Amino acid sequence: MKACMGKILRVDLEKRSFEEEIIPEETWLGYLGGVGLAASLLYDAIPAGADPLGPDNVLCFSSGLLTGTGAVMAGRWMVACKSPLTGGWGDANCGGNLSPAIKQCGWDAILFRGIASEPLVFIADAKGPGLEAAGELWGMDAIATEEAILSRHAGGKLPAVAAIGPAAERLSLISGISNDLGRYAARSGVGAVMGSKRLKALVLKGNRPIPCADPAAVKALSKAYSDKVRRQNLPGLMKGRFLPVLGKIMGGKQVLPLDGIMSAGIMKRWGTIYNNLAGAVNGDSPMRNWGGSVAEFGARHYGKLDPDRIVKRETRKYHCYSCVIGCGGVVDVSDIMPGISHSHKPEYETACTFGALCMNDDLETIYRCNEICNRSGLDTISAGGTMAFAIECFENGILTKADTGGLELRWGDGKAMVALLELMAARKGLGDLLADGVKKAAERIGRGSERYAMHAGGQEPGMHDARLDPMMGVSFSADPTPGRHTISASVYYNVSHVWEGVPWAPKSTKIYPKGEEYEATEREADKSVAGTCLKQVLDAAGGCLFAVATGTQHWRIFDYLDAATGVKRSREDYMDAARRIQTLRQLFNVKQGLSPRDSIMPQRMAGEPPLETGPLAGIRVPIKAMVSNYWRRFGWDPETGVPLPETLAAYGLPPRPAFQAAKLEVE
Ligand code: SF4
Repeated sequence: MKACMGKILRVDLEKRSFEEEIIPEETWLGYLGGVGLAASLLYDAIPAGADPLGPDNVLCFSSGLLTGTGAVMAGRWMVACKSPLTGGWGDANCGGNLSPAIKQCGWDAILFRGIASEPLVFIADAKGPGLEAAGELWGMDAIATEEAILSRHAGGKLPAVAAIGPAAERLSLISGISNDLGRYAARSGVGAVMGSKRLKALVLKGNRPIPCADPAAVKALSKAYSDKVRRQNLPGLMKGRFLPVLGKIMGGKQVLPLDGIMSAGIMKRWGTIYNNLAGAVNGDSPMRNWGGSVAEFGARHYGKLDPDRIVKRETRKYHCYSCVIGCGGVVDVSDIMPGISHSHKPEYETACTFGALCMNDDLETIYRCNEICNRSGLDTISAGGTMAFAIECFENGILTKADTGGLELRWGDGKAMVALLELMAARKGLGDLLADGVKKAAERIGRGSERYAMHAGGQEPGMHDARLDPMMGVSFSADPTPGRHTISASVYYNVSHVWEGVPWAPKSTKIYPKGEEYEATEREADKSVAGTCLKQVLDAAGGCLFAVATGTQHWRIFDYLDAATGVKRSREDYMDAARRIQTLRQLFNVKQGLSPRDSIMPQRMAGEPPLETGPLAGIRVPIKAMVSNYWRRFGWDPETGVPLPETLAAYGLPPRPAFQAAKLEVE
């Protein structure tokens, strides 16, 4: 099959050895690439009960099947391992420039096992793979590390670099891996796993051609899509301050599925931070640690997070490899942080987690928090979620100044947040206790603090409220990597057009009452399952979620895959591969002794007790019933979430591990 390089590289950091392996054709057909390839490799490679920070854990960097074939919007890479944060399947996804570089070195994935005896850098170029002492790079922040490596290659082709910062070296369980000077594969504690292996960076400088079965067809698809995106431009009069109106429409009582291509204009103008205002008014943005509403953080506050204020600082737009939208931006924050010459603009997730979630309307402190995280290597979502937890503990007397080293942790005090984040990055004082996320922090603090620990299976959820979009809550609770906001949600589903060619995926083209989304029906479960499957295909292909959000009738992922691989398949075939991938990720968790019911998000996030004010007042989400339905529609036991034997047999997966998962009680 074309589009893949057909080979992976296994690196043993203990033995400093390398082994290439040819991946058989049936693996590509069954798992596609990216996340699927990683699942197919790691299920066997990581033994049950492996210490996530020990030598038996395997860290897998994989490229997408479409990456480098000429497909636009297909430059994202995955990193997967056993997560030290959740104890189960961990993965994280990133754009930047690493994905093509993995393939240009001749592999579709690079896997690291063992623990190096000293900090190392992995280097691959035309001569092949090698390991070098990290030397003075160890201890440097992630961006400085990459800059130092790039300066060594000045004058020639620059390599792609993935690096960790000091937070990951200190094994913070909420640390990620940086690429392209501060783009992050942030989730699941993947940075801590890299730090535990004493692997400071990957430096990839290959030049091999990436095969494509039908370059002309791929090029035609890319041209058609790029032309559509180019035509999507917002009128100059459309200012950020009008975004609350859009937010209100999106959160209305009737849902009108729109053509997703329109989102390209919004993303080109602002990127994800458009939601700073839209999400505030419709309830999408969680506030006061998921316990507050816009009634407290009103226009006087959220208005200060106007994306126009952020975009004004852009010195240039940022595009990941092969991206024609360019939702990112490099901003000038040198007046706030002298000496910082390159800073990726905060994403919505970052602006919300250090903003509304902590009731903070001070943009300056949000820039600082963004930069501290990007340099130290902390995941902004988890760091902000942990901060909100700490503030709520302080406000309720569970933490005192004696615990915080004199810091007064109050809602909305951005300066105190910056000080606390610096402690977390350095693992000092209270920061040491918080540097492993809310679940661990609550276990360490005790005294009833667990009621403020908002996590799903150990991971702090993304900044989208399930009381507005219950399908998002199903993803938080039921994905094998819980807490993820990029799996499935009604807001993605309605624009995806995944139902075209997939008879079991419910069509969503007509206006419908929002209330339907709160019902634990088979239709809603099928939408969740179809959305999840589309995301697995996407993560296997290396595609960007924002491409799918423009609609698969525009960004034609299935046609792309046919053309690039040279294997013509039905959409059902691709969705079957996705079911196989998702089921194997779930089986990985069972093999590691996790009960899927334990990753269901906290009751507060499902509206128990319900909010008293704001657009989501009074709303409850029947999350347990919805998760149970989702399990059933995936062919997993609806009481335990363990894949059924007949499902495993149908997808050619290994038999169920002996572990008895606990049952979910659905009221
Ligand atoms: S839309 Fe944004 S995240 Fe997606 S590939 Fe482009 S720059 Fe990267």
